[in-house]
Amino acid sequence: MSTALLTDARWALLDQTLPMLVAGELITDGETSDITSSRDKRVVGRFAVPDEAMVDRAVAAAREAAPEWAGLTGFERGKYLLKIADIMENHAADFEFLDAVDIGKPVTAVRYSDMPVSLSALAYFAGRAQDLGGRSVDVGDPMVSHRSRLEPYGVVLEVLPWNGPLWTGVQRMAAILAAGNVAIMKPSELASASFSYLASLVADVLPPGVLTVINGRGSRVGAQLVKHPDVAMVSLTGGIETGVRVLQDTASQVKRVSLELGGKNPNIVLDDADLDTAVMWSTMGAFSNSGQVCVCGSRILVQRGIYDEFSARLVAEAESREVGDPLLESTAMGPVVGEDHYGKIWGYIDNAISSGEGELLAGGERYSDDLRSAGWFVPPTVFGNVAPRCTIAREEIFGPVVTLTPVDSLDEALEIANDTKYGLASGIFTTSVDSAEKAARELQAGQVYINQWFAPGGLQAPSQGYKTSGVGGVGMEKYLQTKNIFTRTSAPSGS
Ligand code: NAD
Repeated sequence: MSTALLTDARWALLDQTLPMLVAGELITDGETSDITSSRDKRVVGRFAVPDEAMVDRAVAAAREAAPEWAGLTGFERGKYLLKIADIMENHAADFEFLDAVDIGKPVTAVRYSDMPVSLSALAYFAGRAQDLGGRSVDVGDPMVSHRSRLEPYGVVLEVLPWNGPLWTGVQRMAAILAAGNVAIMKPSELASASFSYLASLVADVLPPGVLTVINGRGSRVGAQLVKHPDVAMVSLTGGIETGVRVLQDTASQVKRVSLELGGKNPNIVLDDADLDTAVMWSTMGAFSNSGQVCVCGSRILVQRGIYDEFSARLVAEAESREVGDPLLESTAMGPVVGEDHYGKIWGYIDNAISSGEGELLAGGERYSDDLRSAGWFVPPTVFGNVAPRCTIAREEIFGPVVTLTPVDSLDEALEIANDTKYGLASGIFTTSVDSAEKAARELQAGQVYINQWFAPGGLQAPSQGYKTSGVGGVGMEKYLQTKNIFTRTSAPSGS
């Protein structure tokens, strides 16, 4: 490690146990879990985890805080969110450092993506707190007037994934609180540093119990919270298996559940695409955050006329990507999150190579240099001529691995694109409006990107996955329930 990185004052953030926030108190005593850095597999710190009694205490405090929080005006709730945004902005460099060290996210990715997304979510939902929605309809009887009110559930549990612990957490927390619920946030056991740190910064800002941050393993702490009878609504961002588990664990209580799950997102590149645009966005779509993005474009379906040129250019981009220490400004891609995930990704790569699932065009070999062999680094890996039914073209790898499949036509591309259990995101590169519109109509996914990958608008136009990629509502509305109110008047309504 360079001297500048060794002497970075922010290492001191990890000297103390990172806390949980329970009943307004920062908890650091009791059991802890190690923070193992993805960049060099070193234990660099620890975070507090609860026992069963602490989880019960946290839910009880949240429940107690719920009525008063719901009774505040939207303006008042919004002001709290804006305060949190200010505090986060003042500590932006700390968040960059913690996510880089903990999960290997490049500091620049946190600075230019995760932080702005988090801050804009706080500002956006601070405003939305003043307008929860509701409407009035003509019910067909002049003596009866109608209006609907959107009301909070009370105690909402949000279970977070590890791939974007800060922005997914802050965005969801802001929506939950704006809607008038209290929030219990459960970061992933693989990525607890940044959210625990946030808890330590905002503990004094919110009334006790309004925000709870509870760390710990999903199978133990997550499951206890999910099953807790005083948790009214459960929202999870994670894998399908976990989603199924949550549905099973809440079924007997008929609990409200929202699931944002995985994807194996098709990216169609037609002969008439602008190649510079298609290569640039496809590279970003495949390898951003080391491919650990739920909406990444991990299977690319390329029309034969440009297949050779497109694949040569994508391979060149993959091979020139700066893969290295996430703490360095120059790094474009860091390591993957941890040992199990690293093993899973290599399992897919090794199996694809040994069973001839397409030809290996880039990556696919373990790093041997000192820096990258010390951490959980996987090179940007491209497989060409992959048959659509191969394992690497069907299963969510959630790593920097992309498949290229040649297709003859848009119709063939759409058929392959939709032949999946997933339906999270999709995209097409073409200069034909007709082809773009046809794809937009026929792709079975909650998002369609045309001539780009990723897009702003997650707040204003939140998406829900199709098929097994999601269920249970989007945006702030998923944290609200609708009450219809019917009033019989003695005079016709409106007169
Ligand atoms: P995961 O399912 O392993 O874990 C997600 C969270 O669930 C963690 O906090 C974990 O502790 C918790 N958990 C695990 N078992 C639990 C249980 N029995 N009860 C309660 N909680 C439990 O997912 P991950 O590996 O952290 O994230 C990767 C997955 O998330 C990928 O499939 C990815 O596509 C998906 N993802 C989806 C979106 C989206 O918006 N749709 C966003 C990010 C990630």
